[in-house]
Amino acid sequence: MNIHEYQAKGLLKEYGAPVLKSGVAYTPSEAVDVAKELGGPVWVVKAQIHAGGRGKAGGVKVVKSLEDVEAAAKELIGKTLVTHQTGPEGKEVKRIFVEDGCAIKSEFYISFLVDRATSNVAIVASTEGGMDIEEVAEATPEKIDTYTIDPAAGLQPYHCRKVAFGLGLSGQAAKECQKLVASLYATFMEKDAAMLEINPLVLTQDDHMVVLDAKMSFDGNALFRHPDVRELRDESEEDPKEIEASKYDLNYISLDGAIGCMVNGAGLAMATMDIIKLKGGSPANFLDVGGGATKERVTEAFKIILSDDNVEGILVNIFGGIMRCDVIAEGVVAAAREVAISVPLVVRLEGTNVELGKKIMAESGLPIISADDLNDAAEKVVKAVKEAA
Ligand code: ADP
Ligand code: MG
Repeated sequence: MNIHEYQAKGLLKEYGAPVLKSGVAYTPSEAVDVAKELGGPVWVVKAQIHAGGRGKAGGVKVVKSLEDVEAAAKELIGKTLVTHQTGPEGKEVKRIFVEDGCAIKSEFYISFLVDRATSNVAIVASTEGGMDIEEVAEATPEKIDTYTIDPAAGLQPYHCRKVAFGLGLSGQAAKECQKLVASLYATFMEKDAAMLEINPLVLTQDDHMVVLDAKMSFDGNALFRHPDVRELRDESEEDPKEIEASKYDLNYISLDGAIGCMVNGAGLAMATMDIIKLKGGSPANFLDVGGGATKERVTEAFKIILSDDNVEGILVNIFGGIMRCDVIAEGVVAAAREVAISVPLVVRLEGTNVELGKKIMAESGLPIISADDLNDAAEKVVKAVKEAA
């Protein structure tokens, strides 16, 4: 789960990280009220969307009067911002953030993430802040330092010193940076974050460290123990299909292809997506219906897949191990009747009672295309979509 910049800064502040005075606003007049409270003379009005790259896309405005705060707010609220992280369709700005202006001496980058390769939390730091870190990694990888933290020992003072000196800081600023690293780590660990990225972390003209941007995401499996974090969820930023799927315990991720997939088991779902690609198609989603592929869940899964306008065909690939294939086939047939599927539907079943399952589908009178194995299924769905187009 992702949260907004202003929410992340709120959490970081609780842990003692230095952030500027600020407030969130939903209307231009609220923005002016916040600005009055802050006092100026320089304010920064920032679009709050779950995506970075706002600065380059015109979503961050430095202003010097209350009139300009209002004008910036009017321009941003309701605007669809297209950044390199939103995709071409962009994201509508529904809230903005008004923050004190900051006199910046230099901009750095720091992030905390779970490094799967080492099974550790890693700190990634760079002197090249304010830019796209992917570009820095590509062009000048030597300017990125990575420190891994042993989970049993936790963050040690020497990690903090290495980060501060690696960024070229000294004196008071280096001390502030060390304290900041400790507070970022504490936030990351205690809130079960998956990622915390500060870009830029800045050194101000008067040599203080300030968190100027903050991006944070959380491990969905740990949200049950963080009611405060759950409250920060902004469903309007999420894909409505994914929200619907989560209500039925379906693991669904929307993608931009044309073939909807319904599969039981995450590994099988990955394999199914791969083979669709191999056969020249592209998956519209990842969908794991889980162990209990009941009629209700299959029906909901069909509804969610079909609510995606890009879907031109569906591939159901279910392995009946504990679930019997005849039960699954009955579920698929009943769901297909209820939802009135309007695109080619290819079903591949394998496992216990597979012959009975195929018979149920064949005798259903529905135009279900039955497949024998994964290869056959992927070829059939790609061909059916091409012919229907
Ligand atoms: P994004 O990463 O989405 O582009 P940022 O919050 O990083 O958004 O802002 C982009 C740039 O705008 C920063 O790199 C910084 O130079 C400038 N900026 C952001 N907030 C402030 C602020 N409060 N005062 C001065 N400059 C700011
Ligand atoms: Mg940024």
